[in-house]
Amino acid sequence: MHFPRQPIAALQPALWPSQSATQRAVYEATQRFAQHALVPHLERWERQGGIPREVHAEAAAIGVLGLGFPEAYGGVPADTWTRALATWALCGAGSGGVIAALMSHSIMVWPLAAAASERVKRSLLPALLQGKLIGALAVTEASGGSDVARLQTRAERCPGGWRLRGSKMYITSGMRADVLLIAARGGDPGSQGLSLFVVEAPAEGLERYPLEKTGWLCSDTAAIHLDGVFVPHDALVGDEGRGLGLILQNFNAERLLMAVQALALASVCAEEALAWAWTRNTFGAPLIAHQVIRHKFARMVQSILGPLHWARSLCDRIDQGEVPAGEIALLKNAATQALREVADQSVQILGGQGYLRASASERIYREVKVMMIGGGAEEVMYELAARQLGLEP
Ligand SMILES: Cc1cc2nc3c(=O)[nH]c(=O)nc-3n(C[C@H](O)[C@H](O)[C@H](O)COP(=O)(O)OP(=O)(O)OC[C@H]3O[C@@H](n4cnc5c(N)ncnc54)[C@H](O)[C@@H]3O)c2cc1C
Repeated sequence: MHFPRQPIAALQPALWPSQSATQRAVYEATQRFAQHALVPHLERWERQGGIPREVHAEAAAIGVLGLGFPEAYGGVPADTWTRALATWALCGAGSGGVIAALMSHSIMVWPLAAAASERVKRSLLPALLQGKLIGALAVTEASGGSDVARLQTRAERCPGGWRLRGSKMYITSGMRADVLLIAARGGDPGSQGLSLFVVEAPAEGLERYPLEKTGWLCSDTAAIHLDGVFVPHDALVGDEGRGLGLILQNFNAERLLMAVQALALASVCAEEALAWAWTRNTFGAPLIAHQVIRHKFARMVQSILGPLHWARSLCDRIDQGEVPAGEIALLKNAATQALREVADQSVQILGGQGYLRASASERIYREVKVMMIGGGAEEVMYELAARQLGLEP
């Protein structure tokens, strides 16, 4: 079932006059893809707990998997705002889960492109960007994900390479991934001891177990056990002990696009609830005729619009070479708080319909918490921002 939506002009960044022809073209192609290749199948994929592999190739065919990654490996040149617009268009499908599943490679490709051995780049990057291989980033462990520097998975030297021992938790696309980028510790117990390794699946000693979740139902999430998994020397990404730096740099793009995703999904909820409010009659009048309901929509636009313009300006600043990590962390919080408020109010306006597995708002409501925890929990984002913005004693 598909609920109608009533567009809210203020929440259409693709219509802003500042858009270039290329940006508009990327947005429109991605929007068509989302409506034709994702929307009709979402409910079935949510029930099945995953998306078919072919969808990755279909997304690659319109260039969306390679946006912003190096052309030398099959990427499509794009600035950060263009990537944000593509994310916005994908969100029109009304599911953050489908984006998590489809774009899981995007949080592991950048470290590979920046620092992997030439063999790994040539053999894996084009296939990841063409959707022929599925990628996953495996950093978090059951012992705690926020304090990345303390992770415990070990990398032990052995003849010909390394053996990885330990476990990973909550890994997006972990069940399906052909290529996993795994963070593990060499000798040093501190933050200098972390390195990144490429593991090609299946591999002896690599076991994966599916995890059941509240939302993101069409994105598989895995617990992974590494029992002495062998990787050759050139599976090490960058220099030994430089993994944390690569992980932290990677977080900035992930968090910025998560913020855009949160705002776009909030817009979907608002537009769905607005269409409902025009047609649903209570006490002899459509819901929208009640001032209290109109004001809910005005508040929704208020909470989305500020972070959206902030995101736009951060995209430009990043492309000009700035690394505003503290502001990105705050933006992620502002955007996910907006999502929480808007999804909650949209479900409220939809009434009982909003509580059924039928509307996008219901699905997105179940995705709020993963957006506030994944990619850096809210409290950790405030702490990072306080440090980066010079607010600590
Ligand atoms: C659906 C899903 C998909 C995910 N996909 C991936 C993936 O693909 N790859 C990957 O590596 N990880 C992934 N993650 C993991 C995610 O990044 C972590 O869940 C997140 O970083 C938080 O780690 P944690 O869950 O271990 O919580 P913990 O670190 O145990 O923290 C628990 C809670 O404590 C609070 N907290 C933590 N530290 C502080 C502090 N210093 N001050 C105050 N409060 C604090 C926060 O509220 C936090 O939510 C995924 C998670 C989910 C739920």
